[in-house]
Amino acid sequence: MKRAYTTQPVGKSPKSNSKTVSKSMKSNKPRGTKPEKILSMLLKKKIERNTLPGNPDFIFPKKKIAVFVNGCFWHKCKKCNLPIPKTNTEFWKRKFERNIERDKINKKELDNLGWKVFEFWEHDIRSNPDKVLGRIKRYVTKDVRQYSP
Ligand SMILES: [Zn+2]
Repeated sequence: MKRAYTTQPVGKSPKSNSKTVSKSMKSNKPRGTKPEKILSMLLKKKIERNTLPGNPDFIFPKKKIAVFVNGCFWHKCKKCNLPIPKTNTEFWKRKFERNIERDKINKKELDNLGWKVFEFWEHDIRSNPDKVLGRIKRYVTKDVRQYSP
């Protein structure tokens, strides 16, 4: 499927010699990081590999529900407002813009395929995992058409 990006691809993340950056990158790897694992344990569900747009972290195929866990660093969470790394700032700015645009495109594609998309922020899972779990369970057990945060 051809994607209508307006931003340019940015390539791999540069190696950083700054401790803070590599630390926050380590704890914010796109997959298999802590918040997903916490949710995986609570849901008693494995983090799935799938071929859906954006490769959602959890899917409920019967209900066509896709759940994403958004890392606050990679997805530029407004609430946490984590600083952009001081080295390679331009790269990171473009990287984040690209991520945000990719999120939008993935959501649109999932929507076109008839999937309902639910997103949770890393900080919500860390601060109140039970609330997140409760929400997901509600979505999965009820026929919720629209999610409003
Ligand atoms: Zn956050």
